[in-house]
Formats: sequence, C-alpha cells, structure tokens
Amino acid sequence: MPPRIVTVTSLVCLALVCTATNCGSSSQSSASKPSDVVGNWQFTSSTNSGSVLYLGGIDSQGTSLFFAPGVLGVGVVNPTAFVGDTWALPIITGASPFSGASTLYAATGTQLPSGGTSQTLSSQGTVISDSSVTLTNSSGTFTLTSATPLTGAVKAIKKGQTEERAPDFTEMGTLRCDTCGEEFIVFHDPALVDRAAAVRQADWLEKVLAEEHERDRKHSDRIQLPD
Ligand SMILES: [Zn+2]
Repeated sequence: MPPRIVTVTSLVCLALVCTATNCGSSSQSSASKPSDVVGNWQFTSSTNSGSVLYLGGIDSQGTSLFFAPGVLGVGVVNPTAFVGDTWALPIITGASPFSGASTLYAATGTQLPSGGTSQTLSSQGTVISDSSVTLTNSSGTFTLTSATPLTGAVKAIKKGQTEERAPDFTEMGTLRCDTCGEEFIVFHDPALVDRAAAVRQADWLEKVLAEEHERDRKHSDRIQLPD
C-alpha cells in the first residue's frame, strides 16, 4: 500500500509543475495586453524657437489630437510661432508597437515655421504603459505622458441623444460637424467655466471630427475635451 501513495504524490507534483509552467505563459500574454490609453495626454517638442508643449487626448477609437495653447500658466507661454498648431497622431489603441501618419497643422490662417499649412510625417510609436507612450518621426522622438485627469469637468456631448446628460454643467456652445452636420454641445463644470478654453476646445473638436471622417470612424456620443 505505501508505494501506491508515493506514486499518487509524484503525479500531483507533476501536475503542479505543469500548472506553474502554464502560469508562466499566461502571465506573459497578459503583459502584452493593450494598455488603457484613453484620456488626456501631453508632450513637448523641441524646436528652434524653444520647446513647445502640446496638450490633447486620445479617445476610445484611438484618435488623438494635440494643441499648442498660448498660455500654459502664469508667465509661461509657448513659442508664438507654434501657438494654435495641432498634431494629429496615428491611431493609438494601446496596442504596441503602432505606426502611421502624424500630421502637424498650422493654426487657422497661419503657416508652419517650415512653410505650408500642414506637414505629414510617417511615425512609429511604442505604448510603454497606461501613462507613457513614445513616438518617433523625422522631427524627433516625443514622450507622451498622461495629463491630469479632467474628472469629467469638460466634455462635448452629441446633441439629441439622451444616454449622456450633463444636467449640472454649463452649456458653453454648440459645434456643428462640417461633414455630417451632427452637433456637439461643449459643457464645462460650472465651477470651472472658461470661455477662452471653450473656444480652443471647439477648435480642437472640429479637427477631431474631421479626422474621424477622414478615417471613416463614427463620432462618439461623448468626447472628453483637453483642458
Ligand atoms: Zn461628422
């Protein structure tokens, strides 16, 4: 009888070894699981006029747009030559690596310091984590870092749909998509109403909507806006 027990025990040991091996391979596959990149991001680009800070966001479709605001804080400004310029990055869904076109658009009515109203570069990127993404194109390598969450203070909601409501929010204005005519209402938290920001956000949203048509993507019902 005792020898039988030994056999059973060694079988159990073998089973445990197999489980441990399986564990190893399954943790490897969870490491390559896409990161959650939806939210607000920022990056700095160095130029001949100095470093330019871009603020923007990545939505649930992976569409992103970054904007160079004029004033970054008290006494802190972006180089004038780049104010109002926007970067559209490739689709970033959290899968790594990724690649695609990145386009820098000059602010409406201006030209880029390098000439022309837009410049498209092929780019490659790596999603490092939920809060870090690197992107390389012929202008250099940029590190995107996740920006302070807006906690839903600022958003645009598609007009006429009832799923999403912002009862306590202040309506800042309505933006109509040039392509399909859908309308989005920009809302601010009443405590943080900022008319200048709403104008910038409308400008940003207009480009995001156009970008979505270009990429054949549906508009979301709710779009989180950059600060
Ligand atoms: Zn549209």
